[in-house]
Amino acid sequence: MSDQERVHYRTCHLCEAICGVEIRARGDQVVSIRGDDQDPFSRGHICPKAVALKDVHEDPDRLRHPVRRTDTGWQRISWDEALDEAAMRLVEIQARHGRDAVATYFGNPQVHSYSALLGGTALARALKSRNRFTATSVDQLPHHFAAYFMFGHQLLLPVPDLDRTHFLLAIGANPVVSNGSLMTAPDVARRIKSIRQRGGRVVVVDPRRTETARIADAHHFIRPGTDALLLLAMLHVVFQEGLDKPGRLAGLLDGSDVLRDLCRGYPPERVETATGVAAGDIRRLARDFAGAASAVCYGRMGASTQRFGALVQWLVQALNVVTGNLDRPGGAMFTRPAFDALGLATGLGQRGSFGRRRTRVRGLPEFGGEFPVAALAEEILTPGDGQVRALVTAAGNPVISTPNGRRLDTALASLDFMVSVDFYVNETTRHARLILPPTFALERDHYDLIFHALAIRNTAKYSLPLFQPEPDARHDWQIFAALKERIESRDPARRETLRRRLTSRWLTPRRTLALGLRFGPYGARWNPLSPGLTLSRLATQPHGIDLGPLQPCLPGRLATPEKRINLSPEPLVRDMTRLEAWLGAATMARNGELLLIGRRDLRTNNSWMHNSQRLVKGPRRCTLLMHPGDAARRAIADGSIAEIRSRTGAVRAVVELSDDVMPGVVSLPHGWGHDRPGVQLRVAGAHAGVSVNDLTDEHALDELSGNAALNGVPVVVAPAADPPPAALA
Ligand code: SF4
Repeated sequence: MSDQERVHYRTCHLCEAICGVEIRARGDQVVSIRGDDQDPFSRGHICPKAVALKDVHEDPDRLRHPVRRTDTGWQRISWDEALDEAAMRLVEIQARHGRDAVATYFGNPQVHSYSALLGGTALARALKSRNRFTATSVDQLPHHFAAYFMFGHQLLLPVPDLDRTHFLLAIGANPVVSNGSLMTAPDVARRIKSIRQRGGRVVVVDPRRTETARIADAHHFIRPGTDALLLLAMLHVVFQEGLDKPGRLAGLLDGSDVLRDLCRGYPPERVETATGVAAGDIRRLARDFAGAASAVCYGRMGASTQRFGALVQWLVQALNVVTGNLDRPGGAMFTRPAFDALGLATGLGQRGSFGRRRTRVRGLPEFGGEFPVAALAEEILTPGDGQVRALVTAAGNPVISTPNGRRLDTALASLDFMVSVDFYVNETTRHARLILPPTFALERDHYDLIFHALAIRNTAKYSLPLFQPEPDARHDWQIFAALKERIESRDPARRETLRRRLTSRWLTPRRTLALGLRFGPYGARWNPLSPGLTLSRLATQPHGIDLGPLQPCLPGRLATPEKRINLSPEPLVRDMTRLEAWLGAATMARNGELLLIGRRDLRTNNSWMHNSQRLVKGPRRCTLLMHPGDAARRAIADGSIAEIRSRTGAVRAVVELSDDVMPGVVSLPHGWGHDRPGVQLRVAGAHAGVSVNDLTDEHALDELSGNAALNGVPVVVAPAADPPPAALA
């Protein structure tokens, strides 16, 4: 190691797995990145994406200064100029058109920075607009919905106790590629293989034989959007055969009889045609699950982003509960994180909310203070009182990641004003008048507020910055705080008292984190002699600390008023009517339509990592997976170009034939489509692909929760008639 080379340990913040990395750096350059063998949770594991830490840090396309869009292109401006203009325009628009005329959209990377999460929330509060949108409603909203109604809080999310379970049933989840989601589990493939090595079983239910299915004992194809029926039939068998044994939790359950009655109507034979899963397989699966020494059912993206996402997540947890697998080792358990956001929220009496208000145009319900993002375009495009005329985005690319992205693209172009806290000129931010780029993660400290709280082991880790930011750079929270202060100072009605102003200035994200750790479950509290956790002590442990396996915690941690579990929440029971009607109408693929599903790739994580050459090189990734039988009927050959058409649009993609995908189903990955004018992502532009969200439909929702139904989209696929666009040739 040369004199200047230094070694730095931190958490990779790129996905939910929170792997420890060892980074060697010289000057402001990353020399190498490898797994941190001493990280007690990830134990040296990393995935190929970790190199993106270097690539994004050094990316010449990454903005390092605020810019303003002008007729002649992007113009560099000072921070003061940018922040003043942003605050002035937002306040002016709200003064003229009302508070709701300004909307916010925060993307997924926002939750991978604790300071952005805290700072962004404070800014959204200061704006006082009801029009708040995030990526939650194209992702995990149904999980929060089920948790809110069953356990009393939207953050009380059970995670699979992967390291101790004897049976993992994964529905619509592909952790081997996603690296685990709402289940923080670094090196998840090894952990899943270990289940089998210790004599357990792993079963995957998915319309595609996924990478996870390949290391499982069994895989069952299922028609997209029918997982709720499968779960009802499994519960039917459990109840009918007397396999229900909620054990320790029996005395805490409300609504068991209602659930039992509901499931009576779903024998496996009734749902086998709709689901595509043979009745015998459903019966066997239910018996094996209920009979395992411990078992956990885990439903993720494919099970959430569909028409019955909330029903699925409810029934997933209901299955865990009635088979005695909630809150016990090897089952679905609750993390006890060092920074306990759930404990803080319940302590403050905040449980979350549902349906307190509705969107102006379509009347969609809020959840947790947010509206479904599928409504954003129409809220911008529909004139009238409360029309959205300005937008603040942060770390998001909704043109690529939300349903009917083309319509949103058009809507954003019509805004009076848009400001983006982002360091890329991407498909969304190209519409902004101002872009305010924050530092990248290696220039900031880091603690995973969210993903420690969803981890399959209790751990904590705090990472210091690796690089000094440039003198003129701003961290995400500093941008949010500066905007907030300017907005408040321009509007007397919003001005806080001097005391509150000083408090919010003092309470930086880092101090909030320090207080949360000190007064959290493992904290030192006020006692100076206590060996308990503080931020400064955690900072001396660059590899992180292990706080032990998950522990049973119910009923103590339940947030329902009587500390009971509601097995049959009324809104979910009522939504069964919709499922029944849908089943009756047999809205399966028809008229030659196929059902489109998404998929993940180990080398990508949403859209923003496509500007790393090392992650996009190699075989083409944005292909249409299609079953050979479906292709033959349409005279489509492997490697040819097909046109895929839905209600909302059409795209062309190279076809990859595979019997890994169920007949009647096609699959396109998410996050591509970088060939739009004005995007300044050179690598991504050269590997543009097409956006699956040009095909998804903003009107296809889980009507109960408002989550987008990104999977199970009816499409027509045909050979492309005329010469392919250059991007596909
Ligand atoms: S699995 Fe996720 S956290 Fe781990 S190295 Fe890969 S991107 Fe980073």
